[in-house]
Amino acid sequence: MQLKTDLFINGQWVKGAGSLPVMNPSTGELIAEISTADQAQCDAAITAAHDAFPAWAKTPSRVRSEILRKAFEIMTAESDQIARLISMENGKTFTDAKGEVSYAAEFFRWFAEEAVRTPGDFRHSPSGDKRILVTHQPIGVSLLITPWNFPAAMATRKIGPALAAGCTVILKAASETPLTAIWIVDIMHRAGVPAGVVNFIMPEKTGAMISRMMHDPRLRNVSFTGSTEVGRILIKESADLVLRTSLELGGNAPFVVLDDADIDEAVKGAMVAKMRNGGAACTAANRFYVAKAVADEFTQKFTKAMDDLKMADGLETGAQLGASVSRKERDKIAELVDSSVAAGAQVRLGGVTPAGDGAFYPATVLTVQKDNPILNFEVFGPVAPIVTFDTDAEAIALANSTEYGLIAYVYSSDLKRAIRTAEALEAGMIAINRGVVSDPAAPFGGVKQSGLGREGGFAGIHEFLETKYIGVEI
Ligand code: NAP
Repeated sequence: MQLKTDLFINGQWVKGAGSLPVMNPSTGELIAEISTADQAQCDAAITAAHDAFPAWAKTPSRVRSEILRKAFEIMTAESDQIARLISMENGKTFTDAKGEVSYAAEFFRWFAEEAVRTPGDFRHSPSGDKRILVTHQPIGVSLLITPWNFPAAMATRKIGPALAAGCTVILKAASETPLTAIWIVDIMHRAGVPAGVVNFIMPEKTGAMISRMMHDPRLRNVSFTGSTEVGRILIKESADLVLRTSLELGGNAPFVVLDDADIDEAVKGAMVAKMRNGGAACTAANRFYVAKAVADEFTQKFTKAMDDLKMADGLETGAQLGASVSRKERDKIAELVDSSVAAGAQVRLGGVTPAGDGAFYPATVLTVQKDNPILNFEVFGPVAPIVTFDTDAEAIALANSTEYGLIAYVYSSDLKRAIRTAEALEAGMIAINRGVVSDPAAPFGGVKQSGLGREGGFAGIHEFLETKYIGVEI
């Protein structure tokens, strides 16, 4: 299929007022120029979504469900092509990209199933004077803003529940990775989504134009995945019209290895938790806290596993660590490592930026003191700082010493001890003896400054529904 590069407004592919280059970070080469929207085109997308909303909200949920199911089938059939595209514009390996496409498509399947099961409630009031009916209705026009690290999954995790709920949407992808989003929008079109229900724009000035859209009273909801910094801006922007917001923000995940953990299993889990997506995941293990008694064994085995990874262009056979999304992002990783070393970190592996045009950074293992500055930042790359601890209480205190609270990992052979630790960790998600927990059927989201709301699971659709109470006189 020929690569599409235009905006999608009211069921039509539309040339933008301007354009934006999309680069391949593995080679530094241009992949395509995509259209960017001016203010009138952003307004036109809101008009299209607003006009399409009443009919879409009334469309039987079975019909909405079948469209989502069809989108799942198309996406699954095209998974190799989509994975190649993700790898090209994002830099991740083809293997990671294939995993992402399958995860992304599952959101269509899951929400196709959820679309027909929106719960309601009928109760007698305790005073006996009325009946209490509770129903859920779609919020309305929703703006969906996604990041570059999972360009397919972050889009489907929002489009799926929004359409299942009966909302119409305007998708805005990250500037680095719009091509995958455009492919997904095209899938929605081919799956039979009516004109205006799914629109796609890339504003030529992101901050100013999104701000203006968030002051248009026809917009009712903003679902954002990205950095905590931008999340805070959007909370402020949402205040004037009291917009509903769902925010999936940054993380700084602790990976805790207790002294009774199976170390080989912990290393296996650490490799997934750290290296899925080359470390560019909000769920990536970002700080390793390892009990002193097992620290040498863990560090040695983990460093060996990191050292064995093949770093290469994501489309090269056998590549296990691809490029970062851009040289700018790669340089941020290098700066964090350099300042960590300046503050006393010992480099066990990596730590040196390779020469060449590609945005590569090698698998890096550091052993650091508990106050090393790298522990305060989301590294978003293949860097693992390891800290040792003496007691479980100390590990919990260290793990919780961050403003983030998305996910935490615990390894222990004693389930009771692992659950006690999990309950004390301040995070929206906990992985016990596993390196990954993301699942379209589970509620994904964080506490503290990692966000508001949940995506996926039974909760995901409610981010796009309003609760309505109807009191009936008896
Ligand atoms: P980002 O810089 O916050 O950008 C995310 C999106 O927001 C992009 O589409 C970006 O558009 C847009 N944006 C930037 N400034 C904006 C503004 N003033 N108003 C409205 N939109 C604006 O994040 P990123 O670098 O793409 O992604 C990495 C971050 O996402 C990490 O912190 C990661 O933890 C987080 N993340 C969280 C989750 C989760 O589920 N919790 C999942 C994945 C990623 P432009 O590209 O046009 O600037």
